[in-house]
This record gives sequence, C-alpha cells and structure tokens, in this order.
Amino acid sequence: MKKTNIWLSDLTHTAQGISAATFPLGVSFVYSYSKKMFGNEFNFDLFKFPSHLSEALNKNFPTILSFSNYSWNFELAYKFASLVKQSDPNVITIFGGPNFPTVTNEMLDFLKKRPNIDFYIELEGEIGFSTLIKKLSNYNFDATKLKKSGENLVNTTFVYEDRLIHGPKDRIKDVNIIPSPYLTGVLDKFFDLPLVPMIETTRGCPFSCTFCSDGAVIKNKVSRYNYERIKEEINYVAKKVKNVDELIITDLNFGMYKEDIETAKVIADIQQKYKYPTIMAASAGKNMPKRILEVGKIVKGWVLGSAVQSTDLNVLKSIKRSNISSDAYKQIIDFGNSDESNKTYSEVILGLPGDSKRAHYETLRFGVDSNVNKMAMYQAMLLPGTEMASNAHREKFGLITKFRTIPGCIGIYDILNKKHSVAEIEEIILGSNTLSTNDYLECRVMNLVIETFYNNAMFEEIYPMLKTINVSPMDCLIYIKEHPELYTNKIQEIFSSFVAETTEDLFANREEANKYVLNEEIINKYIGGELGTNELLFHRVLLFNEFDDICELMFRAVTETLKEKNLLTAAIENYLLDLKQFIFMRKKDFLTKTEQTRKATFKHDFEAIKSAKYFVDPNSLNVLKNPMQLQFFHDRKQQELISNQVKLYSAHAIGMGKMLQRTNMKLMFRNFVRY
Ligand code: SF4
Repeated sequence: MKKTNIWLSDLTHTAQGISAATFPLGVSFVYSYSKKMFGNEFNFDLFKFPSHLSEALNKNFPTILSFSNYSWNFELAYKFASLVKQSDPNVITIFGGPNFPTVTNEMLDFLKKRPNIDFYIELEGEIGFSTLIKKLSNYNFDATKLKKSGENLVNTTFVYEDRLIHGPKDRIKDVNIIPSPYLTGVLDKFFDLPLVPMIETTRGCPFSCTFCSDGAVIKNKVSRYNYERIKEEINYVAKKVKNVDELIITDLNFGMYKEDIETAKVIADIQQKYKYPTIMAASAGKNMPKRILEVGKIVKGWVLGSAVQSTDLNVLKSIKRSNISSDAYKQIIDFGNSDESNKTYSEVILGLPGDSKRAHYETLRFGVDSNVNKMAMYQAMLLPGTEMASNAHREKFGLITKFRTIPGCIGIYDILNKKHSVAEIEEIILGSNTLSTNDYLECRVMNLVIETFYNNAMFEEIYPMLKTINVSPMDCLIYIKEHPELYTNKIQEIFSSFVAETTEDLFANREEANKYVLNEEIINKYIGGELGTNELLFHRVLLFNEFDDICELMFRAVTETLKEKNLLTAAIENYLLDLKQFIFMRKKDFLTKTEQTRKATFKHDFEAIKSAKYFVDPNSLNVLKNPMQLQFFHDRKQQELISNQVKLYSAHAIGMGKMLQRTNMKLMFRNFVRY
C-alpha cells in the first residue's frame, strides 16, 4: 500500500538573498518527534527553500502539507497552502508557530480570513502535531470528518461551520523525549546549504515582556536537554558544518543557568578541535551576570551583550520588563570587549509604550558610553499573540501604528508552474502618547548615524580617546546628526533618501499594504531594492560605500565637538590627522581588496596605542622623532573569513547590510606590522 506523505516546511524568502539563513530547527523537532511516534508508518519530508518545495509539489502532492508560521514567512507559506488547496482540496494543511493570536475571537477571525488552513497548532508543535496526525489517521485522513466530530485536540485549533474548536493547551514537561534532529540525521541535508546551524539547549523563558510571544505565562517554565545530548549535537554539527563560521544557540537566556557552564566547556573543546564556531550567537540571560561572564570567558567569539530595549524606567514598567543592573551590564560589555574575537551588542527598541526622544537618546548614550560594539536598533513591532498588541494596550499607550513589508521578505516564486507574488507584512509603532511621529523620525535618523559611525568598530579607534579626555562619544554622534550642513552632496542624498524611505510605503492596514505591494511592477521594485529595503541597513551600506566622505565627516564632527567644549589642542589636532590615516589604511576597501598590502608613515606609536586599546590622551602622548612605518595587510585566516561571509550574505545590498550588522568586523580590518 502507498504510504501517506507528510511534509513539513519552515520556509524562508530567497528573492533578495536568503532572508532567514538558519537551519529549520523548530520544525525539525516536530519532524523527529513525529518519526518517533509513527516510525515508518508515514513518509516525512522537510523543506526550507520555496524552490525545493515547489519542485517536490510538481512531482506529487502530499496528504498533509504543514508550515511553520513566523512573521517573516507566513504569507509565503499561505500562498503555497492556498494554491495546493485550489488544485486539490483534499490535501490537509496544518500551520503552527508563534505568529498567531492568543485571544479566541481573534483566532476565529484569523482562521476565517484564511480558510486554506485546516488546523492550527499552538505552543510547542510536537505534541499537538503528532496527536493531530494520529486523529487524522483514525479518520482516514478526511479532515472534514474530524472537524465535524468537533473533537478537542491538545494544542490544536480549527474552525468548523464558523465555530472555533480550541483544544486544551499543554507543554512538554521534559524536552528530552524529543529525539535530536541532528543525531537522527533529519537535518543532514541542510549542511549542504548556506545556512547557519542552530542548537537549542533550553526551552522557555521565565520573564514576561509584553512585546514578546515568549513572555506568555504558559512559556515561563524552562525545560533543558540533557548534557550528553547537547554534547553530541555540538560535536555532530562541528564535524558536518561546511563554509559556515557561526553557531546559534536559540536559548532565550543563555549563560543564566549553572548548566550553561558545561555547555560552554563543550563548545570551547569543539573550538579547539575543529576551529568552529568562530562566532557564537546567543541571547544572554537577564539575570546572573557573573555566570554570564564565566560562560563568556569559556567560549570564544560569543557575540556578548544584553537586550536592553530601553533604559528608561517608565518604558520598562510599561512593558513589564526588568533589565540587569547598569553595573552588571557594563561588566559584561567590558569583559566582551577584552577579547578581539568577541563582539558586544546592546539591543534597543524604538517606540515601545512610554518611549520618548529623550528616553531613546539616553538609551543609546548608555550603550555607547558602555563601549558596546554594536547597537542593534529596532522599531517596535506589534506581534499577534503578544500582550502589547491587545486593544487594551493600544488604547492605554495611544499607539500609532502602520503596516509595511518586512525587509527582505518579498518575492515572486514559481509555485505549481506559475509565478506568484508574495510579501510579508508587519505592523510597526510610529508614535504614542509619549512619542510624537516627528520625534520618532528624529530618533530614526539618530539610529542611522549610530549604525554608520559607531557600530561594529567602524571608528573604534576614535571613541576611547574621547572617553580618555572625558567626552561622551554620543556628543560627537549627535553633532553629526544635528549638522547636515557638513555633509557632502552624496551623504546628504543618502540621509534624505533614508528619511523618505522611513516615511513612505506605510499603510493603514494589512490589506492595503498587500494590495499595493502585490502589483507586478511594484513588487519588482521591491525585489530590485528600489522599495521596501531595511532602510537602516540599506542606507548604512550606501554610507559605508562612501568611506572617504564618512571618514571626513566623522573627524570633522570630533574636531567641532572638541572645539565647542574648548578641548581642542594642537596635540589633539595632530593626533587626529595621524589617526585618520591609520583608519584609512586599516579600513578602506577592507572587504574587497584583501590581497593588497598598504604602507604609511606615522608620527605616533600606533603599536603602543593599539596595545592601550586606543585609550590615550593625545595631550600627553609623545610624538615620535623618527616616524614609524607601518604595513597593513589581511592574513590568510582573515581572507578566508571575509570570503565565507561575503558568500553567505551574497553581494546584494540587503545581504551586505546584514553582513555589516551581523559579522564581527573587528576580525576583518587589516592588521599591521612595522617594516
Ligand atoms: S526575556 Fe526575552 S524571551 Fe523572555 S519574554 Fe522577555 S523578550 Fe521574550
């Protein structure tokens, strides 16, 4: 007898480079758990790229077609589901994931508007999905019969004759009952694709932030995989990985638990043995900073930092969040910065309830003054299923929102031998009863300044010097923002374009956004990058490409800020001249001209200055009697790293923006030696 085919997909948009370039970990747990429950009774398959799913559908349809639902892939998944349903209504479609309302009348509305979803699985997919498959099997895969029975199935929601059937909710008590999708070979084929492996060592989050779907009370209990399994998985990944330097730990609070120290030791061993991962990404816990530091000391290349979101007490109260203390935060950042291979970050969200221009600037200043390597600046999004998206919260904080396409999540895809346009839409906050839309815009421009002139060590050599003479780098960055008359024409054009893109292509509702975007001419503009890019990253790339101009502007802003403060001396002016040349040598065309060596002469001892991590006061620095000659070059390891990263993120401007944002550029700038 022909076996029943059950397909699972966690799709990513690919039209502008791979949007979610990570292993499909979540859905692979559902796959491996279902395999365990049903053995070889059914044929399971797993998809990530739309082109692969499309090819498979051209050969035959499965009995069950299921999809992960995230804000960045829902419309793409729904397009596939709808087209398959049109072609064969008997194919059963199942969706699951956090991008789903939690209030019953909103669930009903969601599902009624999307009749091509037969069943929705909430919370962890494993138990809901496998229970549903079992039931469907009992009903001989006749979805209508099962729906008609009105049976309440765990974690499963569906609509029958306009009525919502909403099963009880449950979570897996011990995640170890899920077989490892790595160790069972489920994820093997993804090692051949340009995707970053992800490992989950814990599930759940004890915190309750209102903007986050993981803040729901039912997700507060944390469950952990056992040590042996984690160890084996990490070893497995390290042996199999190809041309990827990064590992992502998907835990929501890594480093906060004592067991994380053991995980860190496993990663450190792997790093010794396989020289992988050189970059590790994981969200650091919001508690236990000492332990986080300990973990950070063990693992090399952890992009260490803290998702601060805001330092303003009113904002934090409004979103029910408590951050780690400022002192602990600074300690973590200082530690992270102590090793070149590490990269520190601070995550900030603009427009959360209670936010204001003052509060946002102070949050940015806190990060910059703490010497964080990257400020990750986001606009507040209203995600279905979060407390912040409830009507009560919208009214209480007077949230002003608009809809727009999600950057990078748009494309024209070949599905069932026809081209179809798809765009993901998100709702963002543009103002509130404490943040005018004009102030919001000012904050966004400030974000572009930070992204370009501060982030990822672009001018890392300047800021320690400023701090040494008691000047906040944020003052220079504000100077850049407040003095557009210093911009060259090109820079001016880029800033104007940024402001235009921040305010354009925003819509009153999801339907309006879709109607506008899905027009063929318009969607091609989106795909080509003329419209709908991540304006912050895209304009950062444009500015990055004008290296000479931004370098001049940066130094001019430093000089003028020091003048305003009566701190500009001849010694500082001389030092800045030398420093500018030094930065040019290390950073101009560092991604493209990796074979070239460059030579220059300096009046200051940059070997000693670098050893002091650039914390020098030029007023007390000796000028060399015999200028120092330095040669700048990329070593082989750097050339390989740059080549891998460029390949991973592609040459498209959006991919390039992601690369500038995600990679550790400190590892890519030219080294130097005396000659
Ligand atoms: S701590 Fe992070 S994962 Fe947990 S609820 Fe808050 S934002 Fe979500």
